[in-house]
Amino acid sequence: MEEQTRSIVQQSLNALLESESFLPDLQGDMRKKAFTSLNAILSTPNQIHKSFLRVPLEGGEVVRIPSYRVHHNDALGPYKGGIRFHESVNEEEVVNLAFLMTLKNALHNVPFGGGKGGIVLNPKDFSDKELHRICIKYVRYFNNVIGPDKDIPAPDVGSGEREMDWMMAEYKKINHGNPYLGSFTGKSVANGGSLGRREATGKGVYFTFRYLLHDYVPAHEKELSSSTNPFAKSALEFINRPLNVAIQGFGNVGSVTALEAYRCSYIQNKVVAVSDRNVTLYNPDGLDIPALVEFTAHNKGDLPISDVQLKEAGVTATIEGREDILTMDVDVLFLAALENQLNDQNKTEIKARIIVEGANAPTTQEADDYLSQKGVVIIPDILANAGGVIVSYLEWLQGRETQFFTEEEVYNQLLSKMKNTMDIILPQYFGDPFPLRQNCYIHSVIRLSTVLYRQGKLY
Ligand code: NAD
Repeated sequence: MEEQTRSIVQQSLNALLESESFLPDLQGDMRKKAFTSLNAILSTPNQIHKSFLRVPLEGGEVVRIPSYRVHHNDALGPYKGGIRFHESVNEEEVVNLAFLMTLKNALHNVPFGGGKGGIVLNPKDFSDKELHRICIKYVRYFNNVIGPDKDIPAPDVGSGEREMDWMMAEYKKINHGNPYLGSFTGKSVANGGSLGRREATGKGVYFTFRYLLHDYVPAHEKELSSSTNPFAKSALEFINRPLNVAIQGFGNVGSVTALEAYRCSYIQNKVVAVSDRNVTLYNPDGLDIPALVEFTAHNKGDLPISDVQLKEAGVTATIEGREDILTMDVDVLFLAALENQLNDQNKTEIKARIIVEGANAPTTQEADDYLSQKGVVIIPDILANAGGVIVSYLEWLQGRETQFFTEEEVYNQLLSKMKNTMDIILPQYFGDPFPLRQNCYIHSVIRLSTVLYRQGKLY
């Protein structure tokens, strides 16, 4: 991911350097110097905070858990990004995810900078009481660098509203008398969270796909039909016909995306496969997604892994290997699990012609280049999975004003913001021969450079 993001940002900068219409006040050597400092700003985080959380376990043992909070850039507003609870978390990964947040907020015009956190653990290895202690320790250790106007964490893989509630309560306790509702987002509604936050990312992910195929492409069918752009040709193949869909990951993002697809009446799509950390479930006639959501709610988030469990869930499906979902013969593949899922090893086996990235960085550069050359439409993470941070922004606003929106108001604002971004990016995508990811990065870099230049930070 690091290479991919950096090289695309570098290409975006090169393209902008040559464009005379961009920052026309800057000429000659001044221009080169400004771009050098822009490159330096974007390619390094402002700060990396690291701690070892010292946590007593219920059995008496004391563990030291590595944890991070990275501040990438705050030109657009306070740092913002989730806290990942996963055993493979490492510094480089957190830095990259924070960088992606800077670009994502810039793309969607959300007034936040880019940050990210991580705790190196498998949450399933700890009791609820121990996890509570871990969350409290994280806030104590990073209290100086977080806060409603400094850095606002949110959930990520392995964390959710329960952890955000615990963390906000600790922040409130330590910072007694100061505003605290905006210190964490992704909290429960009872504790100052926003209606619709839990569903926001999955809804936004599905919306980008639906808006592309149901709204944008049909409305521009005539001009796209006469275009030589390979992505226009691919997108046109998929309008007004039944589509088979597979969804990797059945957690917060994947399960909501699956429900959106299952219930969507605008597009004739059938969810034929879903997967999680254990299995892939497949049914060519379509899976009963509500029944699977119900089952996972009572099974620690996991899909059925045996015929007995499938029967218990009331679901008809065959059980396949965890990775099988990636290479199934489907039209659309949503990726909502972890990074690097489509890679050099499996890129030639991928059959889907539309890929939507709900997860962060699920496609490596090699796989991305290969699939893009074949005209596969990839709706990238930066565009597709911004629903969480957009509704986090709404949650933060509501916390500041202590005025709360209805669920309908939240969804209307979410989808309208995503539509605005799509309406800016899609004409460029179908016009330029660049993949969608690069079009998004160019747009983010333009917004960031303009702000940094006006803040006097490019010299
Ligand atoms: P989650 O923990 O709720 O769910 C993760 C899912 O992936 C689970 O179903 C898990 O079983 C599955 N999984 C784990 N390892 C796997 C593997 N090796 N192969 C296949 N499946 C595997 O997490 P989430 O909140 O749904 O986040 C999923 C992705 O979306 C992450 O990349 C996250 O960074 C990204 N994301 C989440 C949000 C959000 O609001 N939750 C926002 C933006 C991006």
